[in-house]
Amino acid sequence: MSAEVINGKELAHELRMEMKEQVSQLKQSGITPHLTVILVGDNPASRSYIRGKEKAAAETGMSSDVIELPASTTEDALLQEITKLNEDASVHGILVQLPLPDQISEKQIIEAISPAKDVDGFHPINIGRMMTGDDAFLSCTPYGIVTMIKSKAIPIAGKHAVIIGRSNIVGKPVGQLLLNENATVTYCHSKTENLKEFTKQADILVVAVGKAHAINQDYIKEGATVIDVGINRQADGKLTGDVDFESAQEKAAYITPVPKGVGPMTITMLLKNTIKAAKGLSSH
Ligand code: NAD
Repeated sequence: MSAEVINGKELAHELRMEMKEQVSQLKQSGITPHLTVILVGDNPASRSYIRGKEKAAAETGMSSDVIELPASTTEDALLQEITKLNEDASVHGILVQLPLPDQISEKQIIEAISPAKDVDGFHPINIGRMMTGDDAFLSCTPYGIVTMIKSKAIPIAGKHAVIIGRSNIVGKPVGQLLLNENATVTYCHSKTENLKEFTKQADILVVAVGKAHAINQDYIKEGATVIDVGINRQADGKLTGDVDFESAQEKAAYITPVPKGVGPMTITMLLKNTIKAAKGLSSH
């Protein structure tokens, strides 16, 4: 058996074309969805992510800008910047690129962003609403993952979803979103004993560990859907996932590749959230 590949790059492109239409309609009513990204310091990986976000935003006709602040920026100065953006009606989405320098508390910053402009979906109000199943900005990577699964009409309700990883930005929220879709959800993490016993029961296996090729076909049930969230840079500079693709695809029914998998979907859901914010659709 050779798994069907869920191509995130292609799906992201299709969704962006739909968004282009929505942006054009919004522009006709005088609203240009606008995303402001704040970058503190000069992390090369962050810079490359931000370039990707700007390019994708431009593709849909949205506008975006980047506020660059020095690595020595104080927490107070960043909070003031966020207050200005919260009050600026022309800014619909605010994203503070993480990680932040040590002198700044990420928690304080995330909580300072207006929940109505929190297009990353990291504010506790959005996380709480996601948990209760209410309208919320959904965090982008989990939202992208569920969108990929649904794009192939893969059944979720009643199925066993096993998540490896329990971070606040991927593992925990993706499990919650799958639970909202009526999956039976198991979380595994670094302290889980007998990992394979759990993963081999998974109809949907989401791997967000951050270790290259940590999971191969020995961990996978025949016919499972395998979502590889990992982004690991190899010695040769190439990106690879947390799943050994060649091995896993022999057992899985569906699999996401790295690159061209979850990554492009994450950026796309960020844009989707920004359009939602511009439409004033959030119930904040
Ligand atoms: P993290 O380091 O915060 O969390 C990793 C999780 O894996 C932890 O909860 C830990 O308990 C678990 N873990 C570690 N070793 C394990 C093991 N041997 N067995 C079982 N569980 C183990 O990472 P994160 O922020 O959740 O990111 C995970 C990966 O996803 C990284 O490679 C990251 O670069 C990538 N990522 C990709 C996107 C995207 O858009 N594609 C977005 C965010 C993160």
